[in-house]
Amino acid sequence: MNPEMNTKTVQEILVDVDKCTGCRACEMACSAFHSNPKFSSINPAKARIRVVSNELTDEYVPVFAGNHTKSGCDGRHVYTIDGRTYSECSFCRASCPTRDYFIEPDSHLPLKCDMCESTPPLKQPWCVEVCGEGALVYSKREVKREEPSAAALGQIESGLQALMKQHGMEAVIARLKQIGREK
Ligand code: SF4
Ligand code: SF4
Repeated sequence: MNPEMNTKTVQEILVDVDKCTGCRACEMACSAFHSNPKFSSINPAKARIRVVSNELTDEYVPVFAGNHTKSGCDGRHVYTIDGRTYSECSFCRASCPTRDYFIEPDSHLPLKCDMCESTPPLKQPWCVEVCGEGALVYSKREVKREEPSAAALGQIESGLQALMKQHGMEAVIARLKQIGREK
């Protein structure tokens, strides 16, 4: 088997909260990169990274926007770390209906970090690029693909059978071939 087919690239941004000064350059850079046209405006409310801050205790935690969730969560928590208390939503990465975080203020669409997808690809994401403190570190590594489980294969098979019943075998095979060519 081609070894390239057996691995996938994982991109991550590692956060060192001890180095973060709360300057918010990452929020500004992210919003500028995602403005249309690129770098035409700066609005941290449109950023896909949010620096949770407590100026009194000099604590700053960068949080990246994750997936959208349609409903607010019902299991609220208060976090106590090193004797300090943080609100239940402080470190949550989701955009949800109960708060304004990671919601685009004009369109009200959810925002999610896309690792600064770009063509051609960037050497590293913009938030990392502008963080002069080294609090954000870009990491890219190859990991082995996991073999699909028997349960997942069973689900795929059932899905294919349903599609064939609805559209016919030839249409499904033609579409699968097309997807293969697009990859
Ligand atoms: S740019 Fe770096 S130091 Fe400044 S707020 Fe963002 S993560 Fe913290
Ligand atoms: S990686 Fe890109 S999209 Fe994600 S928070 Fe950083 S600047 Fe924004």
